Amino acid sequence: MLNELASDERKVLHAVSSLRIPTRLAILQATGLSNGRATRALQSMREKGIIVSHEETRQEKGRPSIIHEIAPGAFFAIGAALTVGCCTIAAVSGTGELLESHQLTIDARAFDEAGLRALLERVGNDVTEAIGRRDPTRCIAVGLSVLGRVDTDRGVWSSGLQYGPFRNFDVGSALHNVGVPVMVEDHARSMAFLERRRSAAPQRQDFAVLYMGEGLGSAFVLNGEIYRGHHGVAGEIGHIALSGNERRCICGDTGCLETVASGSGIVATAKARMAEGVISILTPRGDPSETLTLDAIHEAAKANDRLARQVLQEAGEALGEAGSILMKMLNVPRIVVCGEGSLLADCLREPMTRRIRERAPLESQRDFQIDFALYSPSDEPIGVAMLAIDGAMASAAGTAEGE
Ligand SMILES: [Zn+2]
Repeated sequence: MLNELASDERKVLHAVSSLRIPTRLAILQATGLSNGRATRALQSMREKGIIVSHEETRQEKGRPSIIHEIAPGAFFAIGAALTVGCCTIAAVSGTGELLESHQLTIDARAFDEAGLRALLERVGNDVTEAIGRRDPTRCIAVGLSVLGRVDTDRGVWSSGLQYGPFRNFDVGSALHNVGVPVMVEDHARSMAFLERRRSAAPQRQDFAVLYMGEGLGSAFVLNGEIYRGHHGVAGEIGHIALSGNERRCICGDTGCLETVASGSGIVATAKARMAEGVISILTPRGDPSETLTLDAIHEAAKANDRLARQVLQEAGEALGEAGSILMKMLNVPRIVVCGEGSLLADCLREPMTRRIRERAPLESQRDFQIDFALYSPSDEPIGVAMLAIDGAMASAAGTAEGE
């Protein structure tokens, strides 16, 4: 669909989708187009039903201005997010609304290269079906959000950690049958992009994300852009050692923050304490192989179970340790805790804040804010779908530039 647009239209569309307040003036500044060319491109896309324009007051002060927005239903993308045991697949509109979502169950826990190829083929078939349930000509991109290390610029899933022993897996070639460009990203950055789009903070404000899911990751938004590093490895906060922590990590090191401040770390710690004989309302009464969930630990903590409270307090302190490292390195004004772990905010916030107060440089704590994002399991697929849309538009606008 993007290929059928004229080059000015592609530039204007990319500006409209990425600007916080897409007025005509802001679009002119972002695209460098003349008033006449931008106005003609807007007019033409209004006629095609891609853009809608209306009068609105977006800032507290000031007169209403004409805002140009992507029309609901103009196009969509599919986002797929792989976690341990499940893949959530969502169709997302060009304006970021969730159109549909469903889950695929994944039985295996670790994948070699062939196993991963087979899994992604299954995901690819499902994505193709989801595209087919709507107007396929309006699907502009597919995003895949994964755990582990990702080199987004090269389309490579470098390593999966929990996901298995493969290395440098070419995601685009495994998903080539979906018929549109595929972007691969890690969960932390997918969520950071979603947070940037949803946040009311000024567009250029810097922030860091601490992503607490199965593992612990981080992502940085600097000057409004996601910073990934040279090969996508920036933000590996989960594998920095926490002093006094002897636990073995899946990465092969000992003492990583992730072994304490992550979903898998919290569950493993609670199990280990019970195996040592600590009494808890979580102690299995019937089947000892019964799976222990993060949710059950949270409920136990709310019921004042000492073991559950202790484990979550340690996780909160380790999260604070991670936060203070980010503040020393980046001096961001805001850290956002995202992922399933943000549901534990009532237990994590106090120990996290306390540890940051103790450890982060005093100057970095001025005008500093910690937020826990509201979490839903469709957030990772929505985030990566929006990133994929942005990527497709940026590359279409870039192609236009060269013409
Ligand atoms: Zn590690």
